[in-house]
Amino acid sequence: MQTITILGATGSIGCSTLDVIARHPERYRVFAITGNSQLRPLMEQALACGARYVVVADEQRYTEAKALAADMGVQSEVLCGVKALEDVSSAPEVDAVMAAIVGAAGLLPTLAAVKAGKRVLLANKEALVMSGALFMDAAKQSGATILPIDSEHNAIFQCLPHTFTYGNLPASGISSILLTGSGGPFRERPLTDFDSITVEEACYHPNWSMGRKITVDSATMMNKGLEFIEACWLFGASPDDITVVLHPQSTIHSMVQYVDGSVIAQMGNPDMRTPIAYGLAYPERIDAGVGPLDFATLADLTFSTPCRSRFPNLYLAIEACRVGQSATTRLNAANEVAVAAFLDGQIRFSDIARINEQTLNKMEPIDVYSLQQILEQDQLARHTAAELIRGLM
Ligand code: NDP
Ligand code: MG
Repeated sequence: MQTITILGATGSIGCSTLDVIARHPERYRVFAITGNSQLRPLMEQALACGARYVVVADEQRYTEAKALAADMGVQSEVLCGVKALEDVSSAPEVDAVMAAIVGAAGLLPTLAAVKAGKRVLLANKEALVMSGALFMDAAKQSGATILPIDSEHNAIFQCLPHTFTYGNLPASGISSILLTGSGGPFRERPLTDFDSITVEEACYHPNWSMGRKITVDSATMMNKGLEFIEACWLFGASPDDITVVLHPQSTIHSMVQYVDGSVIAQMGNPDMRTPIAYGLAYPERIDAGVGPLDFATLADLTFSTPCRSRFPNLYLAIEACRVGQSATTRLNAANEVAVAAFLDGQIRFSDIARINEQTLNKMEPIDVYSLQQILEQDQLARHTAAELIRGLM
């Protein structure tokens, strides 16, 4: 029996995690679930899964959350604030933590789980993009196991050889990591239309059902850029080891190419419950509730190279990855601010990449390592991006 904390339980990944867990009551027990703004769905989850703790990240809503829990007959203890998120991620009773808060807000609780040596099911890619070296060093020190939940990284993880040595891909016979991405809804949209893309259009993904921030990131391909950086840290790869491949059908979730010419791909229906189930049960396999791929009806599998002028955010992220930690931390922060401004109707879709690029251009690369430096750079980049956005309005 594994005891699990789910950070970001009310989100898309959080709900899918609870779905998989509910299929295996004999294997998993929920210790804590956390949410931020959606109090009623969070309490409903608490009733359904019997979590010992329910944590609301937003401290201002403690009284409201307590009252709602009492009203709905929730037996779980209600806690609030970032410290409580860290506590339920690092409590001695907890075996595994699903890190599925969106954005930089996930960094501190995810890091708490890493430092406590937990098995960390990492969906929150932004945490790793912000703090790669610190994050991986903390895992090494504590003995935490990081299991990638992002479907591409989960796929790569499944395609690695048993002899894989972190940080030395050639020693494992690997010539390239092939990171696939669908290209999102605007893969074929005329570039001249990009300024008029609406929030509704950008929040629709042809293959995957996800939260709004990552869906917009998928449309700009910043998501693939963040994943590029994530892959470097997770597998100890250099930017030259990774190739991004457009694969609109999302049937192959990524591949590993070997020096002997072999390519190993992981395939499946695009449903996040597959990588979640893999992370929960690793090294075993459990039913995820996902149907088998039907090869009789499978359409063509196609591949191409993402175009720079269509997806500037992708190339910005790859460049930031080469520059180093200060650039990736800032890019992540600027992008969060720009995406929020787009969702809020303040800027155009095509402005997101402009804000990101200009934020990076305004800040000289520096050495960052400590948590304090990372949080400082995150805040500085947020201010710079917000100022640039005000200039556009
Ligand atoms: P959602 O937007 O659906 O959910 C986000 C979760 O984070 C919610 O539980 C939300 O709470 C919580 N949250 C939001 N803001 C805060 C905050 N300030 N403090 C604490 N908690 C907060 O996102 P997704 O589930 O789509 O994505 C979660 C993470 O997983 C992201 O990092 C994403 O990149 C990654 N990921 C997602 C995939 C997917 O298919 N969805 C695939 C691969 C990676 P509430 O809703 O109550 O406000
Ligand atoms: Mg992904």
